[in-house]
Amino acid sequence: MAGSEKKLERSKSGLRMIPVSDTDSSPFSLPEPPWVSDDECKQCQNCRAKFDFFKRRKHHCRRCGKCFCNDCCQEKVNLPRMLFLDPVRHCQVCTEISRKEEDFFEKHLKTLLNGGYFNVTESDMGPDEGSLFFLKLSANHRQLLFEGDNDKREPVQIEKIDTLQILPSGKDEEGNTLAGGIAIKYTDTTGGTNIIKMMVDSGGNKKPGQIWIAAMQKAFKMVYDARAK
Ligand SMILES: [Zn+2]
Ligand SMILES: [Zn+2]
Repeated sequence: MAGSEKKLERSKSGLRMIPVSDTDSSPFSLPEPPWVSDDECKQCQNCRAKFDFFKRRKHHCRRCGKCFCNDCCQEKVNLPRMLFLDPVRHCQVCTEISRKEEDFFEKHLKTLLNGGYFNVTESDMGPDEGSLFFLKLSANHRQLLFEGDNDKREPVQIEKIDTLQILPSGKDEEGNTLAGGIAIKYTDTTGGTNIIKMMVDSGGNKKPGQIWIAAMQKAFKMVYDARAK
């Protein structure tokens, strides 16, 4: 995709690979937090041990910016949401969060970029009136792209999705509800609100589509949680 050029930048926390243009920043990225100032930081914010320049140095968690002793902040973890190239120092709480997100970046994000076939219907259409599209996340993660043989659709901006709902389609042998599709409510480029349903194409194997839906749900949650802060 044009314009997703990146440049290397060194912040106080480490080397980052950032998009050259702001309009290319991923909706899954987070800004680096401000670090708790020296004045507010006389003791570890976890175990309360007092800092001492020689015996107990303070360290900042790269994810939350709070200050900790080495014991409470020694884990080095990947932090792709802040675009660090190498693992960076994390406190214990943030370690857990970032480890879970590693899963998203290693698996679910790839699923979204690879795409899948869905039958797309507008809210005012009957279930049989939709058209088949190949849906995938754009390379800069900002848009859902719809590729159709006959029909065209404008991309949906990930940051303009207001709600996302999983639509069930029956149960498997063990009684687990199967995801049949998703409905999203989003704001389009004209500022109008739209609701579309994207159902896994029932022509063939449903599994890839269901995995794509699960990944989309995780992606939406990440963007939504970051928005709520
Ligand atoms: Zn501590
Ligand atoms: Zn932290």
